[in-house]
Amino acid sequence: EGAARLAEDTSPGATADGHPVQLLANIGTPEDAERAAAQAVEGSGLFRTEVLFLEAQTAPTREDQAAVYARTLRAFEGRKVVVRTLDAGADKPLKFATQPDEENPALGVRGYRLVRTVPDVVTTQLEALGDAQRETGIAPWVMAPMIATPSEARDFAAAARAQGVEKVGVMVEVPSAALRAPAILAEVDFVSIGSNDLAQYTMATDRLRGELADLISMWQPAVLDLVAATARAGQDVGKPVGVCGESASDPVMAVVLTGLGITSLSMAASAVPAVRFAVKSHTLEQAQAVAAAALACDEAPDARAAAVAALVPGV
Ligand code: PEP
Ligand code: MG
Repeated sequence: EGAARLAEDTSPGATADGHPVQLLANIGTPEDAERAAAQAVEGSGLFRTEVLFLEAQTAPTREDQAAVYARTLRAFEGRKVVVRTLDAGADKPLKFATQPDEENPALGVRGYRLVRTVPDVVTTQLEALGDAQRETGIAPWVMAPMIATPSEARDFAAAARAQGVEKVGVMVEVPSAALRAPAILAEVDFVSIGSNDLAQYTMATDRLRGELADLISMWQPAVLDLVAATARAGQDVGKPVGVCGESASDPVMAVVLTGLGITSLSMAASAVPAVRFAVKSHTLEQAQAVAAAALACDEAPDARAAAVAALVPGV
């Protein structure tokens, strides 16, 4: 009943004093896109394209990919769609792209690093995205995962722009990219923080190990520091800095991220109504106070408790 009431509010994400924070859906297929587009979301902030090809034995053709991307763009027509290029590797192996013999796949050839081993796979995907853009007249935002250096961001941006991509970005999910966010941002139009992997790599903790869940929390102050630094770097140059890991679906974290200056939050579509309400219940200044309370702590549970205590009463 409370959920039904929350779902009635379809307004764009914003603080009580009108500071916008886009609320977006994470998707993995065109079917997801069509379901999410029926909800009150402002688009998709993370289209995990590797999900399309988890079963494929051979590399998908340019034509097949273009058709799927076109369908996804049309589902959100008039709204933003951030397409992430293949993040094969580690927990998401693709038969045609992943190295079978890696001892440390999370630290191996994954994400944009595929350009070193199977460059044609990366190029074909960008060509297909260019085709989908030309066919639909809708321009996707396109970002690469697992970027660690400014030169990787520069090379990816050049390759994407060569295919006509207008908005090029990279994910910030490796601590080196967060620490050097100004240099990364200089190469691209936007960045999006992958909180799952940023926490995994900052805390040296496998994201799939339940026994370590407390270590990998986004509430770890070291992770929050990297998010804060990235957000600040974006504000300094006026470029969008989103968060697209699962943490964006926690309404308390969403308020913290808003206070840190994050410009969009992408999550499971079902999480959007509660996040919209939490963000809307705070002015930007109040959200900044919630963020400051969390950042002042040394341990993750204390950071979350301090944020909760600083929320506007009733949220
Ligand atoms: C992340 O790492 O937070 C992210 C959004 O990407 P994925 O979960 O697909 O690795
Ligand atoms: Mg990731």
